[in-house]
Amino acid sequence: MTLKLQPPTPPPVTVSNEFHGLHVSARRADAVRLDWSTPVPRFGRVRVVGHTCECKARVYELCTSGGLAWVRRIDRHSPGETVRVTHPCRVGEAGELWALILAGEAR
Ligand SMILES: [Zn+2]
Repeated sequence: MTLKLQPPTPPPVTVSNEFHGLHVSARRADAVRLDWSTPVPRFGRVRVVGHTCECKARVYELCTSGGLAWVRRIDRHSPGETVRVTHPCRVGEAGELWALILAGEAR
């Protein structure tokens, strides 16, 4: 009788999210097209309250200042980056927009 050696079972493949932040879901075909514009230096102290993962060339940030909020879209390329922003609106509205972007339902 021969003893058949089984190779050890490899551990289940898991994708570690330890070093990753939020990823935007695949964009839906019927995604709402947002009105992106060139940022103007209008707000002094801007707080970034949410951002998507740095591993992507495109990063979205949820920004707030002076009771308003908006989403900033940063396309990193070399050299430099292209920044676009949505219109500042109420914080709650921007939060909804943020959720839509993350869900791939707005772009
Ligand atoms: Zn990532």
